[in-house]
Amino acid sequence: VFDARGTSLESNPALRRLLGAERGDLPTLTHPSLRLLDETGRELGLAESPVGRVLATGRPVPSAVLGLAVAGQDLRWVRMAALPHTGPCGEPRVVVTCSDVTAERAAILALASAERRLRITAEHAPIGIALVSTDGAILDANDALCRLLGYSHDELTARTVRDITHPDHLADDAAQVDALVAGEAETYRVEKAYLTRDGREVWAQLSVTLVRDETGAPQYFISMVEDISAQREAATALDHRPSHDHLTGLPNRTLLLERTDAALARAGWRRGQVALLFCDLDEFKLINDSRGHAAGDAVLVETASRLSQCVRTGDTAARLGGDEFVVLCEGLTGRTEAETVAQRLTDALTEPMARAGGITMTVSIGVAFAEPGMTGAELLRNADAAMHLAKTSGRDRFALFTPHLVEQATERLDLEHQLREGMRTEALFLDYQPVRRLSDGGVVSYEALVRWQHPVRGVLGPGAFLPIAEASDLILDLDRYVLPRACAAAVAWGDQPAAPSICVNISARHVGRGRLPGLVVRTLRDSGLAPQRLVLELTETALLGMTPTAQAELDTLVALGVRLAIDDFGAGYSSLKHLVDVPASFVKIDRSFVAAMDSSPASTAVVSAVISLCRALGVAVVAEGIEGEPQRGQLASLGCAYGQGYLLGRPGRIDLTALSRTAG
Ligand code: C2E
Ligand code: CA
Ligand code: CA
Repeated sequence: VFDARGTSLESNPALRRLLGAERGDLPTLTHPSLRLLDETGRELGLAESPVGRVLATGRPVPSAVLGLAVAGQDLRWVRMAALPHTGPCGEPRVVVTCSDVTAERAAILALASAERRLRITAEHAPIGIALVSTDGAILDANDALCRLLGYSHDELTARTVRDITHPDHLADDAAQVDALVAGEAETYRVEKAYLTRDGREVWAQLSVTLVRDETGAPQYFISMVEDISAQREAATALDHRPSHDHLTGLPNRTLLLERTDAALARAGWRRGQVALLFCDLDEFKLINDSRGHAAGDAVLVETASRLSQCVRTGDTAARLGGDEFVVLCEGLTGRTEAETVAQRLTDALTEPMARAGGITMTVSIGVAFAEPGMTGAELLRNADAAMHLAKTSGRDRFALFTPHLVEQATERLDLEHQLREGMRTEALFLDYQPVRRLSDGGVVSYEALVRWQHPVRGVLGPGAFLPIAEASDLILDLDRYVLPRACAAAVAWGDQPAAPSICVNISARHVGRGRLPGLVVRTLRDSGLAPQRLVLELTETALLGMTPTAQAELDTLVALGVRLAIDDFGAGYSSLKHLVDVPASFVKIDRSFVAAMDSSPASTAVVSAVISLCRALGVAVVAEGIEGEPQRGQLASLGCAYGQGYLLGRPGRIDLTALSRTAG
């Protein structure tokens, strides 16, 4: 810490060592025995030094590499940063951090002059150095980097930069990498956090240079990684390191991991002692989207307070961010005990939330137990995977981690990635299945059913990839992919009012976000399809807990002239109430009901009741999954107007010439 005249008030041994002042006082910055040089070797006066610039502007000076010449010593190169600070009586002070980068500079210079395909010579450099391929694979790394990140050389070179980057910083250097490859810059520097092998966060100053071959084509990156965790701590010690979440006051991820690591160390080799319960609120986005952020925040605050009340003293409830909360439990006797805790959390969280306008939430919980030798980060990953299992098995439940889940999670990520690629490369296509009048067999519409020409697995039906897409917002992209293509196809079928309509499935996740009308308007405008020829099929899940936004969305669509169908009626939470509330033109009776009609008089009675109710409400009924002539005859005699099923036509391509013949 320096005062306004450059006199040092406090310093740590490392700085004194650097300035050759181990014994005795640190010289003032203006003392003739101490010279500060810029990278070209020009001497800087006090006013030009970082200290002088902070004093002049009152603002922090970003770190820069400067030469430090002390009488009687070799020239050292240091990275120096300076921050404004105030003394006890309000007088200006400057906090300076310096780190010795002499070896790094030497290594950079050595590398710059080395031949093309270089080996890392700076094996003993105090900073980490890696050669990285243009797609992020770590080709080679020196000892310092291995030590910093806690990996062996072989482990590190089997990884990519993504693997070792802190999840919060994955996007940090992407733009700069692009600039390097595009030739807009020679090198770049960023401060970013890495994750060590055991899940600790280390902050580093990263300098990246791109090496090109003779033709100028990018070959690989040289990355210099300097540990600046200590500097950051020194700089933030004046503030204090954030360990708690602002909104809820709960411990954050960092503190959770610290405590988990400590708990794991205490538990040692004993199994079944430490568990993490990863809690993710179901459909929290819906609250935020439909009731606004204030309501969303109220739910989070209430969730936090309930979790804190539920956990025993000594256990930790933390918030990772968003609607993700984690409870750390210690000293558990076994799985049943963890399940009891999960049940208690579920009970507490599903009580109506008075503070948030009486909303009732459900929660999906993933439970993972520590195995000997595990790190906190690994345990957290397992709990996360189990939570995903709870989500995909229908939400509002808890699931236990099993090793098998790791495979599933990687498969899921792979598939998600491939599906994105599939949409990008138009590998997804639509089959069309006719909906016919039961009276004369005429086609009234076609339903678009998505398929995926998978590069390895052949043509996949929606069952193979929709659940994956449904688990994230990828499903929104899928709907945005399908809708314009289906509408364009319908335009190709002709433009007479009698031309068949097009039925498009819309995911339940898409409803209530306020985005559907915009998407539909754009699609109709771009394709030129008459709104009357578009039918949107919504499953009953989409209609559960209809929010005002969802209601307004559906009303808008109907006002546009688009028709709605309630899909899979009877498959899920059948509610006749939906028939009254939703402005639907069609109800599609689920094929499980139609199939059961053959053997179960009760099913026939239900189908018959739905048909008469719909007739009273002016809603047309489509029976799904008609596979045999007896079903068709029976449905027709019950008064069902339309049908769909293998008997009436399988999903497939549409023959345009056949179509114009029928229309004629
Ligand atoms: P769905 O909307 O109930 O579509 C009808 C499904 O029943 C289709 O399966 C169809 O091939 C099948 N099917 C038709 N007739 C018969 C029959 O007589 N017997 C039997 N056993 N099955 C019949 P598919 O193509 O596998 O689609 C499954 C579900 O995937 C659809 O159910 C729909 O919910 C969803 N889906 C399909 N395409 C899309 C899409 O583009 N977007 C969205 N969001 N969901 C889609
Ligand atoms: Ca459908
Ligand atoms: Ca259906």
